Amino acid sequence: TKFKELGLSENILKALKKKGFEEPTPIQEKTIPLLLKGEIDIIGQAQTGTGKTAAFGLPLIDRLEEKSKSVQALVLAPTRELAIQVAEEINSLKGNKKLVVAPIYGGQSIEGQISKLRRGVDIVVGTPGRVIDHINRKTLKLENIKYFILDEADEMLNMGFIDDVKLVFEKAPAEKKVLLFSATMPREILNIAKKYMNKYEVIAV
Ligand code: AMP
Repeated sequence: TKFKELGLSENILKALKKKGFEEPTPIQEKTIPLLLKGEIDIIGQAQTGTGKTAAFGLPLIDRLEEKSKSVQALVLAPTRELAIQVAEEINSLKGNKKLVVAPIYGGQSIEGQISKLRRGVDIVVGTPGRVIDHINRKTLKLENIKYFILDEADEMLNMGFIDDVKLVFEKAPAEKKVLLFSATMPREILNIAKKYMNKYEVIAV
C-alpha cells in the first residue's frame, strides 16, 4: 500500500516525501483510513518504533481546522521526553497546514505554558499531572476537543496516572473520538476502554 491510497491530503503527501517516509507502516495502513472516516474509536496495540505517532498524527493534521482558536486535540503521554518527541513528529509532518502543536509537561515553567495556551494551541501533547494542573487552573479547556489520544497507556498506568487519565475522560466532551495506544493490554486498560470509549476497533500490529 502507498500513502496515496490511504486518503491523505496532497499537503500531507508532500510532507511525507520531504520527511523521507516512503511507505506506511502496518499500524499506519490500518489506522489512517479509519481515522479519516472518523466513525469509530481505536485501540492500537503497538510498541514504540512502529510508527504509531504518524498513525494518529497524520489524520489529526488533515481533520483539524485552522484558526479554531481552541484546543482540538489532546494527546496524553507518560513522560516529558515522549511528549516532546510526539509534538516534534507532528510538527514535522504538518506541511503548510497552520496548526499549533505544544508539548505541556511538568518541570517547565507554567507561566510560559499559560501564555502559549492563551495565544491558541490546536494540539496539546502533555503529561498527565501538568495537564490536570492546567485544567484545574482553567488555562486548558477541553470543551472543544475532537480527539483524545492516549499514547503508551500501559506506561501511564504503571506510573500511577490512572486517576488523572480518568479525570481527563470525565472533563472531555462525550462526542470526541478516543484513540488509545498501548504495547500491552492489561485488564485495567480494557476496563477504561469499556467505561469511557464508544464503539471501538482493536488494531494489533
Ligand atoms: P514511532 O513509533 O511513532 O515513535 O516512530 C518511530 C520512528 O519511525 C520515528 O523516527 C518515525 O519518524 C519513523 N517513521 C514513522 N513512520 C514511518 C514510515 N512510514 N516510514 C519511515 N519511517 C517512519
